[in-house]
Amino acid sequence: MGAHPDMASQVATDPPPTPPCTEGGEAVEARLRRRIATEGPISVADYMAEANAHYYATRDPLGAAGDFVTAPEISQMFGELVGVWLADLWQRAGCPAAVRYVELGPGRGTLAADALRAMRGAGLEPPLELVETSPALRRAQAGRLPAARWHDDVASLPAEGPLMVVANEFFDALPVRQHGDGRELRVALEDGRFVRDSAREVSEDSPAALAIVRVLARRLAAQGGAALVVDYGYDRAGAGDTLQAVSAHSYADPWLAPGTRDLTALVDFCALAEAARGEGARVFGPVAQGDWLEALGIQLRAAALAKAAPERAAKIAAALERLTAPAQMGRLFRVMALTAAGWPQPAGF
Ligand code: SAH
Repeated sequence: MGAHPDMASQVATDPPPTPPCTEGGEAVEARLRRRIATEGPISVADYMAEANAHYYATRDPLGAAGDFVTAPEISQMFGELVGVWLADLWQRAGCPAAVRYVELGPGRGTLAADALRAMRGAGLEPPLELVETSPALRRAQAGRLPAARWHDDVASLPAEGPLMVVANEFFDALPVRQHGDGRELRVALEDGRFVRDSAREVSEDSPAALAIVRVLARRLAAQGGAALVVDYGYDRAGAGDTLQAVSAHSYADPWLAPGTRDLTALVDFCALAEAARGEGARVFGPVAQGDWLEALGIQLRAAALAKAAPERAAKIAAALERLTAPAQMGRLFRVMALTAAGWPQPAGF
């Protein structure tokens, strides 16, 4: 999930602040140490998967008091525009009745709540299917979205009816493999510290992300619907080593204190698009988040909100800037849509 501690200006800082869950963090770190001591070096993907599973299972990392802030937590405008985008697509698809709202990694449920409010305004009230592995975040989601159903995996999503899928800062939390100098890079222990193999040039891929996109694309092709993927990432291969840790709104060392900080990697949109096309979905974008939000009318929404609550005008303007300015989240964050072949062209691309 996500990192935007002032993307452009931050450098890695350590040592980290006291993690909110020291005991659990130590447990997962001890488990990784034991595993490497008995099995030998493990893949970067295994290290990342184990660290993040623990990290998300044990806390709510979002918000000022946590490790990072995501677009829906910055402003209601983000989720509302996602809802408007979905409702528009649904209407132009002929208002199919059996449609469902699916969200991958819904965090606190803020995006879903804002999107549902906007969709309701357009006459769309789909059932909610949330794919979430973290018990801590499921609890937070249940507080806001009591009628939702939860899934551990995309595989158990309903197999009938069009799916409208949203994934914001989900794919960047999934484990990446790293390769370099002709081999898969691994993590070993040296003098009690986690150390990754060195390599002249590093490349990454994420079998976990590709597997999920393939399932979604296959479902869209068979059931109808669309998916919206928003994340920070790149459009062309060759980004190199993008694995990083984020803790208390700063970049941190990914090889220190696994399980207590968010491990993320930039999303390879090119690979996701290719995987989706291979399963029969149409792909739109990726485009820059700032351009997409502007195409959907975020300026007008901001103006309307500021007019309704003049005392909040400065806050609304700051949120608008944060979501759309190229130096903030406007450019590094990309938006990509997948649709079923027979569905209309989505707005904003
Ligand atoms: N989309 C939210 C939260 C982003 S944080 C927002 O924009 O605010 C990433 C989310 O993905 C968290 O809810 C986390 O628990 C969830 N997550 C991470 N790995 C997952 C996995 N393998 N399967 C399902 N959910 C996962």
